[in-house]
Order: sequence, then structure tokens, then C-alpha cells
Amino acid sequence: MNSLVIQTSFLGDVVLTTPLLAELALRGPVDVVVTPAAAPLLANHPAVRDVIVFDKRGADGGLPGLWRFARRLRTRADGTPRATSAAYLAQGSLRSAALALFAGIRERVGFNTSTGRLLYTRRSRYVREIHHAERLWRLAAGDDAVAAPGTVWPTLFPGDTERATVDALLKEVPRDGASYLALAPGSIWGTKRWPYYPALAARLAPLYRLIIIGGPDDGPLAEQIAQAAGPERVVNATGKLSLLASAELLSRCAGLITNDSAPQHLASAMCTPTLTIFGPTVPQFGFGPLAPLHVTVGHDTLSCRPCDAHGPKTCPLGHWNCMRELEVGRVSHELDKLLLP
Ligand code: SF4
Repeated sequence: MNSLVIQTSFLGDVVLTTPLLAELALRGPVDVVVTPAAAPLLANHPAVRDVIVFDKRGADGGLPGLWRFARRLRTRADGTPRATSAAYLAQGSLRSAALALFAGIRERVGFNTSTGRLLYTRRSRYVREIHHAERLWRLAAGDDAVAAPGTVWPTLFPGDTERATVDALLKEVPRDGASYLALAPGSIWGTKRWPYYPALAARLAPLYRLIIIGGPDDGPLAEQIAQAAGPERVVNATGKLSLLASAELLSRCAGLITNDSAPQHLASAMCTPTLTIFGPTVPQFGFGPLAPLHVTVGHDTLSCRPCDAHGPKTCPLGHWNCMRELEVGRVSHELDKLLLP
């Protein structure tokens, strides 16, 4: 059986789709449709045959682009037929469902809550109470499947290039016996960015060698953190690492402190102990960390929380107390419980 998984959501969702890929790979070749930004994440992944880049906001945009891309899906790069038996709509839009339909894939599987569900031939129950990685895995395993503990696990496979990149980054860092601790202070949603990373870094700097990860846009924030903690205790890796290299780096760290954003899923894939700070969202949405050692921190007594599935651009109430009242001491205390014997 040849499977096609369509996952054109955010980077973290792609990582959480890897248990589904592994499940389908037990049955035959698996091809995956992803955005240009997410494609490098799946390099070297043993469950994946072809990573197919769908530039839905660029060359493949609009109905003509969708139609052209769907026609291309029928054939592999070497000209042989792709012969897909079933499409799994890990991303639930009407566009993704139409893509599978236009590509002539007879069996189309997705969630019963998705926008594109009318075009599915099988609808899987969207269970709110379980982790999203398990929800996605059930698209293949079945609605009543129960995952054995530790079996539905995201995976990523950094290669030699990523190892060499991280080796080069860390080569210049003085060795003083302190463990590396990664901080991921960014998020594309402003309300999910905890504001006290600089103060936390100042508190942690005597204990750890801090490494700031993130995209180029997180550079100014990383500089603030470095100034607060002392530049000699901080490695600013923002904008310097690919996604897979970031995963490789995380695999070498004692832990990660992050907002509710993609780095927590990279850490889950690399089994790096993770502390995730939740503001307007909650782990009960099913997108929390999965690393064997993890903890989540959030404001427990705020009646407006959660207020949005993703985190609003700005606080609708104006005070943003879900983050502003989450103190450095609390996060630091939870980190100690997570990492110190
Ligand atoms: S409404 Fe409440 S949960 Fe939402 S951003 Fe504002 S303080 Fe946070």
C-alpha cells in the first residue's frame, strides 16, 4: 500500500505527524506533502520515501496552481507512477482535501472536524483529550486504537551535516563543565512569548552555559538575554541553525526552556528534557511536550485562560496577565525540579 500524507501546517505539526508516518511505513512506501519551510525537517527520515514541496502561497497557489500540483502528484520525480492507495489529511483544509481528490486518490482519510471533511472517504474521530501526535497516528491506526506507552513518539534524524554544524558552533564555547541549557524565547504569536527570559537567564547563568535558539527574527531578543546573563555565558544561535541542526543541538543539551512553540516538539523528538511555558494556550489542547522528562508551567488561576487555540496577536483584555504574572521564581523552581537530582 502506498500512502500520501498531506501536512502543510506549522513546523511543530510536521514533527507531531512523524508517528503517523512511522505507522504507515509498516505497510508500504510513504510520501509526504509539506510546505517549503518544513521540508528540511523530514530529511533522512527512514519512514519517508519522497518529501514533496507544496508552495501553496507561491508557485502552487490558487486553483490553477493546485490543479497543476495535483497532476504532478501522480508521478514521481523519476517519471514512474506514484500509485497512491490512500491520502491522509493531517492538515484539514478544503485545499488539502481537494488536492488529494484532484490527484485521483480514491481513499481520503481525515478528521471528522476538519473543514475538508466532506471530501473525505473516511472520517476519523477528533478526540480532544489525547495528544495531537496520537490523534494523527489514529488516522492510520484506527479510532479505537490505544497507543502503548512510549510508542507514539515524534522522531527526527539529523545527519552528518547537522552534526558538523553543531560541532562548529560549540567548538568556540569554553569548556568549564557546565551543561548546555537551551532557551527558545520566540513564537510567531506575540502573546505566547513569555517576557522574562532575560531575568531567568541572569538567574541560570552561573549554573548553565545558555544557548539561545530561534529564527533570525529572535536575534534582538537573544541579545537582550545575553546582556542580562553576561555575554560570556550565552551562545546566541538564533538564525544560525537549520531546523534539523537545532534538533541536533537540543540532543546535546541538558534541557530546553521554551514557549508553546515548535522547539518543544524538536526537543520531544530528541528526548531532551523540556520545560514549556504556556500563556493563553494550555497543554490540554494536545500540543504539549512529549519528552520523557517534561513539565509545563502556566497561570493556574486566571479565568480568561485559555482564550485562543493558537494564542491571539494581542491580549483581548489588554492586561496579558497569563504571562505577566508568571514569575521567574516559579519557572526557575520548576526547572530545578526537572533537572536537578
Ligand atoms: S485574555 Fe487572558 S489568556 Fe488571553 S491573552 Fe489575555 S490574559 Fe492571556
